[in-house]
Amino acid sequence: MKRSAYCQDDDVFTLLKEVRGCRLCADKLPVEPRPVLQFHPAAKVLIAGQAPGRKVHETGIPFDDASGDRLRSWLGMSRDVFYDEQQVAILPMGFCYPGTGKSGDLPPRPECAPTWREALLSKLENIQLTLVIGQYAQAYHFADNKASLTEKVLAWHELWPHVVPLPHPSPRNNRWLKNNPWFEQTLLPDLRQRVAEVLSESH
Ligand code: SF4
Repeated sequence: MKRSAYCQDDDVFTLLKEVRGCRLCADKLPVEPRPVLQFHPAAKVLIAGQAPGRKVHETGIPFDDASGDRLRSWLGMSRDVFYDEQQVAILPMGFCYPGTGKSGDLPPRPECAPTWREALLSKLENIQLTLVIGQYAQAYHFADNKASLTEKVLAWHELWPHVVPLPHPSPRNNRWLKNNPWFEQTLLPDLRQRVAEVLSESH
């Protein structure tokens, strides 16, 4: 028997409430858990990211930082569209700020994706484009994990136009961007066009 839209909305509401109340790895986090994600079953673009940094932890707004500014410019997306949950879903591999180590933010907590990711992804039935950002999201979303991040991004045509691997837009990756000018010259123009197409489609 087909479930009604009402039941599905109810399921999503319950799931999101559970995610937002999660304390599974509270004893491993440097601060109180604050899951940061953006989610609506109608979303057309999925941004699979890494984990919130400290600034995002404080505001509770995903990518409300220098990384987000660069990501929006890569995508040719205004803040209004980026933060429209019915257009864009944002699911990092770890929903809470994991803390900072000697060379930047620590990896996303490993408990998070196995606990929540499959259930959330199964509710996103309208995704036309998935942006897989950084090595942790790529390790989860791609079958071939022998390839380096650069090799994966270089092979961006393989899953085009539905899935696109991207480096993390963090200012820490400025050197990568400088060493790989093809990324801005060839991938980004096509990506901006694809994003505009997806957002203009009605489903
Ligand atoms: S990082 Fe994920 S698993 Fe850990 S407390 Fe936050 S939501 Fe729960």
